[in-house]
Amino acid sequence: MTTIEKLKTYLERIKKKNKELNIFLELRPEKELLGEAKKIDGKIKSRKAGRLAGYIIAIKPNINVLGLHASCSSRVLEDYLSTYDATVIEKIRSEDGLIMGMVNSDEFACGSSGETSAFGPVRNPVSPELVPGGSSSGSAAAVAAGFCDLALGSDTGGSIRNPSSHCGVVGIKPTYSTVSRYGLIDLSMSLDQIGPIARDVRDAALLLDVIKGEDERDPISAESPKLSLKEIGKGKKLKVGLLDFKIQDERIQKIINEKVKEASGKYGWTVGHINIPHVGLAIETYYPLVYTEFFSATRKLDGRRYGKKIEEACGPEVLRRILGGAEITKAEHEGRNYHLALKVKKIIEEEYQKAFGDLDIIISPTVSRLPHKIGSKISVEEMYSYDALTIPSNLAGNCSISIPAGKIDGVPVGMQIMADKFNEQKMLEAAALIEKLGMGD
Ligand code: GLN
Repeated sequence: MTTIEKLKTYLERIKKKNKELNIFLELRPEKELLGEAKKIDGKIKSRKAGRLAGYIIAIKPNINVLGLHASCSSRVLEDYLSTYDATVIEKIRSEDGLIMGMVNSDEFACGSSGETSAFGPVRNPVSPELVPGGSSSGSAAAVAAGFCDLALGSDTGGSIRNPSSHCGVVGIKPTYSTVSRYGLIDLSMSLDQIGPIARDVRDAALLLDVIKGEDERDPISAESPKLSLKEIGKGKKLKVGLLDFKIQDERIQKIINEKVKEASGKYGWTVGHINIPHVGLAIETYYPLVYTEFFSATRKLDGRRYGKKIEEACGPEVLRRILGGAEITKAEHEGRNYHLALKVKKIIEEEYQKAFGDLDIIISPTVSRLPHKIGSKISVEEMYSYDALTIPSNLAGNCSISIPAGKIDGVPVGMQIMADKFNEQKMLEAAALIEKLGMGD
């Protein structure tokens, strides 16, 4: 299929279903998209096309795309038109990826369900009465709904992997510093990473390979080992740790255990249990860091420099974090909570590093429970608990991926595969092997 044909199919589908699913906030004008698709097809024909030629891509609205709205799904920035491209966007364009538009998300990437957007909740394409997960809700949902081929999300505590798990697609949180954050609107700058969402491991790996790399505009960014896409999916013997963790819904753990057993039989993997002693403190460690860094990052949203004054225009979850951050950073507390959280972060990081001294990958469910019904009342603690298994990877700074592992009553369940820092290659190889086992349907 040509890029134009595929684009038309996607646009038709979006016209039919976007109103209900509330995924796209902004599409580029159709004429412009068709013109660009035609150019890309021309390049493909003359064999001058880049590696992403033919791929149609949706973007989370906290990433700057020149001329489109970086609204962060918030009233605060609803009129903010980006004046430049984020580094990841420049890289996608230079490889001929077609950027389609901006999708919905949780407000300022704060949330785990897609319900905190100022523009209404995103629905899960697999089961529209359920949440799609968050905060990259629209990114995962767009891929799952067949509105695009690929999407970019951002992951601070699970926001790529959690919605990928609930929507039955593949999402990668790269090692911290692998992908430039230049042009990403911060949630928590010591944890945020941009990453790809796709329908399979190979496509996700390709997009990661394009967007990664050192960037002088993000001093934290670093060059990471080259990915060999050819090696992905070849049978390899691996040493696997199954994470010891009390899962809220035991049916989820059962699906993961069965998959791992199948893989170990087929590929000769050695499997044992692994205990990360402080993993149970991840949520308590994460929020003081996020509240503090988010509070600091949002001081420029004062109604004069950018957008509206955030305290006056944001929703309750964003306000909770700003007020919480203001409290934590009060002079009288002398930064105690923030520094304590940093200490535990370091401990968790070291525990994972030690574990990876002996293991190739660590496997767990991505999310410990199934998604709830849109609008049902759940407590803040319950909402935060969605990320109990994803946050550790942000604290440790290593890489992880969520891939579909099975379904419970038709609702997708994701498996999280984690590898040591800069070991994306191993993580992807393992994920592709699990993917190869199929879903039995
Ligand atoms: N759900 C988590 C939070 O609300 C993670 C968000 C994210 O990764 N962007 O902070």
